[in-house]
Amino acid sequence: MTSLFDDTIARQYGNDPLGMRVYTSKLLGQNKDLVLHGGGNTSVKIDNTLYVKGSGWNLDTIEKGGFSPVDLEALIGMAKRDYLSDSEMVKEQRSAMSDQSAPNPSIEAILHAVIPFMYVDHTHADAVVTLTNTPNGKRIISDLYGKNMLIIDYVMPGFELARHIYLQTLYINWDTVEGMILLNHGVFTFDNDAKRSYEKMIRVVTTAEEYLASHTTLPSSVSTPINDIQSVQALAEAVCALRGCAITPVLLNSPQAIAFSLLPNLGTVLKKGTLTPEHVIRIKPFPAVIEDNIRQGLELFVKEYQEYFNSNASSEHICLDLAPRYAIIKGLGAVALGKDANEAAIIADIVEHTISAILCGEQLGGWTSLSLSQLFEMEYWELEQAKLKK
Ligand SMILES: [Zn+2]
Repeated sequence: MTSLFDDTIARQYGNDPLGMRVYTSKLLGQNKDLVLHGGGNTSVKIDNTLYVKGSGWNLDTIEKGGFSPVDLEALIGMAKRDYLSDSEMVKEQRSAMSDQSAPNPSIEAILHAVIPFMYVDHTHADAVVTLTNTPNGKRIISDLYGKNMLIIDYVMPGFELARHIYLQTLYINWDTVEGMILLNHGVFTFDNDAKRSYEKMIRVVTTAEEYLASHTTLPSSVSTPINDIQSVQALAEAVCALRGCAITPVLLNSPQAIAFSLLPNLGTVLKKGTLTPEHVIRIKPFPAVIEDNIRQGLELFVKEYQEYFNSNASSEHICLDLAPRYAIIKGLGAVALGKDANEAAIIADIVEHTISAILCGEQLGGWTSLSLSQLFEMEYWELEQAKLKK
């Protein structure tokens, strides 16, 4: 992965740390191998205020107004609490904001506050997360990055994760830390200089990409892809009935998508988790699999999704709709199923990246990301639900 940092462009932000924050956030956002559609977040500390990405903003298009100004001490105070529900956290963060018209701070704001550097960059980099989503992921990461990389086991994002990292790092010497990898989730880099923080991210990701390049291969060609428009349309119509709205399908029939659809253990691998936790909000915990009959494939999806809900829900949860967000059609590839062209494009991007990641993970001992119960925690999380409603 190459750095997109341009010193000539950056020079205009010489005395404007928030402007510089916008600039390198956009550089991260431009690369889909780092973040996809609202994923990742960044911040800058100026005096005693943390300017952190507001929810609802994407890194590739963020502007100064997309950063929420929150009192730094108030956030660090929150990290020291024993417990804070995520909705209380949002309320308290809002009251610690110096501009009430700014968006809600990212749910990872407390974590950004805890990291004692001016610039903090957080991505869900495909290559790094792919390595961690394998049985020996933690060992591979430790060997690759050495003792100066903090490695954190999976904890649900939000207050719990921020508090966990606060406690884990209380007595460390941050000056020796090059970055932080959250298993099954993403990467943090930080520095008092925006360029260095951004380029540390590029270096961390490049190391993982090089490891993947030398240990895995992705299929690059197949016999002519089939453009079975009829099946795709029939699938969209059937899903439309399940979701109660029109469905825009997008067919993914790259060599990778076709190879993926033909994996002998497809049914099992699809239950082994999304690429990064928040993807479950967009694509549900698993897709429908169509062997040769669309109706049967969708019936099986509905049954499995209901089982997933029933075995994880408590009395306050209300089951979401029973329509898959994508389907794998054996031999044909994958079909993203959005309620409009915009949603279909977002799903298609996530599915494309997921497929490549799983194909690599399968060559590194077998794809193993989050469990269905961890995915449920995320999919049915009040804050994530609120984010989608916007
Ligand atoms: Zn994250």
